[in-house]
Amino acid sequence: MKIFESLQPMQAWSLATKNRGEKIAFVPTMGALHEGHAALLSAGKKLGDKLVLSIFVNPLQFGLNEDFHSYPRDREKDLAVAKNCGVDAVFLPTSIEMYPKGFQTAVEVEELSKPLCSPCRPGHFRGVATVVLKLFNIVQPDVALFGEKDWQQLKIIQRLVHDLSLPMEIIPVPTVREDDGLAISSRNQYLTKEERQAGLSLSLSLAKAQAMVDQRCKEAGAIIQMVKATLEETKKIKVDYVSICHPETLQELQTVKKPALLAIACFIGKTRLIDNVLLK
Ligand code: AMP
Repeated sequence: MKIFESLQPMQAWSLATKNRGEKIAFVPTMGALHEGHAALLSAGKKLGDKLVLSIFVNPLQFGLNEDFHSYPRDREKDLAVAKNCGVDAVFLPTSIEMYPKGFQTAVEVEELSKPLCSPCRPGHFRGVATVVLKLFNIVQPDVALFGEKDWQQLKIIQRLVHDLSLPMEIIPVPTVREDDGLAISSRNQYLTKEERQAGLSLSLSLAKAQAMVDQRCKEAGAIIQMVKATLEETKKIKVDYVSICHPETLQELQTVKKPALLAIACFIGKTRLIDNVLLK
């Protein structure tokens, strides 16, 4: 497994790979790899001749009061997971390599970056879109894999690829959950035992919403109220948002009609968790 810490050798390897006619599958991450990331890597392994993983905790997508400095970092464990998943090349750049002095360009996917997570995390998706486009230009993938857990991010990247005519395909991968339903996230490491227990309310509330829809409730307001009440049953949870929206435009819906996305974000202590479900 190749390890690249600098941009030029990574790009040269990718260009040489493509010149040999080989297809590159790419999984961008912030590290602290878990089974969710492994699912993306295993899907990528099937889609490309070569599998590239990037690990970069991107300062541009963190707000001033967010967890950039405390975000979990474990290079040796991540490299072991990567090897196990059959990764051919890992790109591990430093911030200074990615954003040298004088860097001033940003990418913004305007409308999709307004709702859901954006009011709480201003500038977050600008940072995501900017780093992802830069990573795409370095790694030159034919396909890149993104998790449905971060639904808004997935839609923003799909839009970016379409709008800027990038010659590549974005492949969505379903959310990987713990046996008890908790969506796996690098940030779950922050949770105490009690907070983790409270975190189960997220997936539970999504399941209850689906049950309401199954019983023919179509009123978004009523479902949202039930989801909020379920989440707030535990005093440890502070709801950021509960939204029922169109899965492509992310515009709020009054009535649940196919397709509809139910997306939630909550704080449990200092940890912000998100989850979502496509209501069937
Ligand atoms: P992150 O390292 O958190 O930035 O995530 C890197 C990629 O892994 C993103 O495309 C995420 O959506 C995806 N991902 C994170 N957690 C999960 C999960 N539980 N299931 C599926 N994909 C995930």
